[in-house]
Formats: sequence, C-alpha cells, structure tokens
Amino acid sequence: MAKQKAIVIGAGAGGLAAAIRLSVLGYAVSVFEASDKPGGKLGILEEGGYRFDTGPSLFTMPWHVTELFELAGKKPEDYFQYSRLPELTRYFWDNGKEFIAPANPDEFVQTASAATGEPAENITKYLRLVQKKYNAVGELFLYRAMNKVSTYTNPKALKAYPQMPALGLFKSMAKEGEQLLQTPEMKQYFNRFATYNGSDPWQVPALLSVIPYLEHYQGAYFPAKGMYGITEALYQLSTDLGVEFHFNNKVTKINTSGGNTTGVTDCYQTHHPADITVCNMDVVNAYKYLLPTEKHPTKLLNQPKSSSALIFYWGINRSFPELGLHNIFFSNDYKAEFESIFKDANIGADPTVYINITSKLKPDDAPEGCENWFVMINVPNNQSQDWDALIAEARKNIIAKLSNRLGVNLDHHIVTERQLDPRTIESKTSSAQGALYGISSNNRMAAFMRHQNKSPYLKNLYFVGGSVHPGGGVPLALASAKIAVGLVEEGR
Ligand SMILES: Cc1cc2nc3c(=O)[nH]c(=O)nc-3n(C[C@H](O)[C@H](O)[C@H](O)COP(=O)(O)OP(=O)(O)OC[C@H]3O[C@@H](n4cnc5c(N)ncnc54)[C@H](O)[C@@H]3O)c2cc1C
Repeated sequence: MAKQKAIVIGAGAGGLAAAIRLSVLGYAVSVFEASDKPGGKLGILEEGGYRFDTGPSLFTMPWHVTELFELAGKKPEDYFQYSRLPELTRYFWDNGKEFIAPANPDEFVQTASAATGEPAENITKYLRLVQKKYNAVGELFLYRAMNKVSTYTNPKALKAYPQMPALGLFKSMAKEGEQLLQTPEMKQYFNRFATYNGSDPWQVPALLSVIPYLEHYQGAYFPAKGMYGITEALYQLSTDLGVEFHFNNKVTKINTSGGNTTGVTDCYQTHHPADITVCNMDVVNAYKYLLPTEKHPTKLLNQPKSSSALIFYWGINRSFPELGLHNIFFSNDYKAEFESIFKDANIGADPTVYINITSKLKPDDAPEGCENWFVMINVPNNQSQDWDALIAEARKNIIAKLSNRLGVNLDHHIVTERQLDPRTIESKTSSAQGALYGISSNNRMAAFMRHQNKSPYLKNLYFVGGSVHPGGGVPLALASAKIAVGLVEEGR
C-alpha cells in the first residue's frame, strides 16, 4: 500500500521535529521551506572567519532533541554531541558588582550571596519556591494537547488548580521578588527569567518564576557544534529517514475542501496534495496569508505578542578573559527598561546587554586570539517604529556601556558586523511582528490562550512551533511536534 503523504510548512525546529516524527509513523513527508536552508530562527551566519548562531544561544532540556534519534532507532551520539555547562552565566552590574553563576545550586547560593550581599537564606528560599512551583505546575501542560478535556481534568491538573493562587497566579514576578529578596541585584537576577519567554516581570504572573528551574536544576548545555548543530543533526536525521526537502519554496496557500485540508500550493503555483498538513509557520501569519478565507480564532490571534530582540553579530579582534559563554550586563533601572519595551514600544537609553561568545568553548568559531560576540538586547516587537534611528542610538549606548564596564574602547575592536532586528526577524522567519516567542505571557491566562496543535476548524491540519502550544523556545517548539504528531496518530 502506498504511504500516506504529509506536508510540513517550514523547516524550523518544530517543523523538523514534526517531519521526523511523521516519517517514523510511516508517512511520506515533504517539507517546504521559504529559505535556502533549514533551521528558521535556529540559524547560522559565517563572516570573515567568524561563525555565529543567529538566534537561540541558551540550550536547555536536551532530551527533547535526543529522543528524536531514539524514536528513529538511531544512536543520538552518532548525530549530536553536547555537554552540561559547569557555569551558567557571568553577571555584571555598573556598580562594580559581578559574579559567575555556578550550575550547582548550593554553590550558586553562596556565590550570589557573597557578591551581592543578599542573605543566603533568602536566595535558598526563593530557589525552594522555584522547585515547589515546578513540582506543582512545571510539566502540567507542556506535554499535553490543549484540545483534550483530559488535559484539564487529569489528577495532576486537579491537584494544581487550588495551589495556583499560593504559587503566584495573582501577583507579578517582580512583586514576589520584592517580598522575598532584599538587594536590587538579586531582584534583577530573578526578574530576568521573564525575558526567557519575552515577557515583562512587572506584568507576568509570579507562577512563571518556575522558569529558573530549567537552568538551576535541569542545567544549561552546549552543543559541541554550537546551536546550529541542533538544526544540522535534525536535518541529517530527517534526510536519513527519507524526508524530502524543498528549499526556496514558500507555501502561499493551504488548500481546503469540505472542511479538510487537501495539501498546499507553493510560490510557483504548483499544487502539492497531502493527506495531512503540518504548519510550522507562525500561526498568526498562517491564518492571514495561507488561510485568508477560512474561519479565524480572532481573539487568540490578536493577543499581544512577546518582545523581540536587536542583535549585533560582532567579530572582535581580541579576547576578554573576564567573559564566558553567557554574559549579562544589567541596566541600572530594570523597571524603566521594561516600561520602555512594553508600554512605550521603545528602547531605553540603558538596556541590559547579553553577550554570547561560543568561541569560548568552540575556538574555531573565531580566528585565533579573537572572539565571536552575539550581542543582544530585548526590544519591543515590530510596530513600525523608526528602527533605523532606534538601532543607531542603541548601538551607541551598548558600546558606551560595555566599553565603560570592560575598560576598553570597544569600537576599536569590532572588525566585522551584521545585525538582526524585529523587522528582519519578521521577514526572514515570517514571525508576526518579529516576536521571539509568539504571544507574551504577561496575561495570567496566556498559558491557556495559545493556539492548540490541531486546527479547530479544518481536519488534517496541525500546528507546531514557538507560536503555538506549549510555547516559544527550542525545547517547547520540539514538544509541540510531539503533541501534534501524537494527535495525528490518535486520529488514524
Ligand atoms: C534572537 C533570538 C534569540 C532566541 N533565544 C533563544 C534561546 O536562547 N533559547 C531558546 O530555546 N529559544 C530562543 N529563541 C526562540 C527560538 O529560536 C524559537 O522559539 C524556535 O527556534 C522556534 O522554532 P519554530 O519551530 O517556531 O520555527 P521558526 O524558527 O520560527 O521557523 C519557521 C520556519 O518556517 C519557514 N516558513 C514560514 N512561513 C513559510 C511558508 N509560508 N512557506 C515555507 N516556509 C515557511 C521559515 O522560513 C522558517 O524557516 C530565540 C529566538 C531568537 C530570534
């Protein structure tokens, strides 16, 4: 019997994972990708002897990657190597305080307390609460389909609902930090985790202070070939399984008939029939451009989006021993920084600067004695601001801040430069408003308001990726494929 045919729109992390899972399930899979290579936001840039991962830099929950190889009956290590990091991130404040966050939680408490003056018992108490939240709600919805009643009525969910107010559903992450911590530095440290899904610590419910659990207890990791190594490994596995890729081939329409999807039409006006279609395009743009005449879940699609990012990829002609793989240079007024982003849709004069330097662990990412700096600040999503003016101003402020703290004139050490901003994130990966993580989590109901992984209107249409359930970030995009293909399997 001929295999059933599946089409996947987009070769981002979620699309690649869906293609692998569908192939294992026995489908003949074709992936259509608008760009000339796989990965989407999980991309690569090479220039003048420097290599950069263009998007994600923090790798957590590696088992979401390795289970795909196991599922396909392959040895993960034949495709993908990675290691756990002994240090998480190096933190710097303009007032001279700084510390290197050890991965071990007990060492972290001692180091952070000594560097900031925060009583160790406060940090311990905060981390205990993080663990409690994770145990109560951490994995509650991550691996379950939103369109199934059992998701909301399983014993773990029923046990969690009454605990939610005590776990911080009705107060903000920042408010909780105010109550538990004394020093501005440690409040800022824990508030930063709201940015892991593009949200504002002064709006996001304190329930989301579960996020530090990932780094502090599950660990942060580094793929031996850099983050793009994830894309390469998943692409290699897909092709080994016989998945067919069509690059430079944008899908322009999801075809429908009588409440079913029948396949897609590509940018060359060719119709490709399929038994099921999986969409890895941002869900807002998928409805807008690929399904313009079908019914839309307007309320879901119109929710405020997460923040975006401005990234400078700088080839640096010297090395900085005081820096590590992940580095944060905090702003002096964190609240003002988030007000600029979320209330004014602007970039403040003193943004928190994140620097990722993969050449620290992978020396061939930069010429000898040099470093590849991925320099990122959080910025509002694209609302047609005057980005050229905002970027020029931000670049000046970032260079002044880093030069001041590192005691150099950084301008003299930048030898190559490329940029990515909300406009180009939007145009390169078709992400609505250039948001990094789909909708923001600033609303306390946001976790329940993400688009589900199966179309509520069209049979045989599924959605994967960071814009749908369970959320943004590489591990959750991979989890979305697991849920979606689970639903395909149930429907057969
Ligand atoms: C700067 C930045 C930093 C980030 N940092 C982190 C981090 O540290 N850790 C982390 O876990 N996550 C991070 N993220 C988020 C993470 O990158 C995303 O959540 C994840 O990669 C999204 O994967 P996805 O499956 O949604 O696909 P995407 O990466 O959004 O890719 C979608 C793909 O679909 C293609 N496509 C779209 N429309 C069509 C069409 N009509 N036809 C054909 N192809 C189409 C696009 O070209 C693209 O290749 C970051 C993102 C960015 C941009």
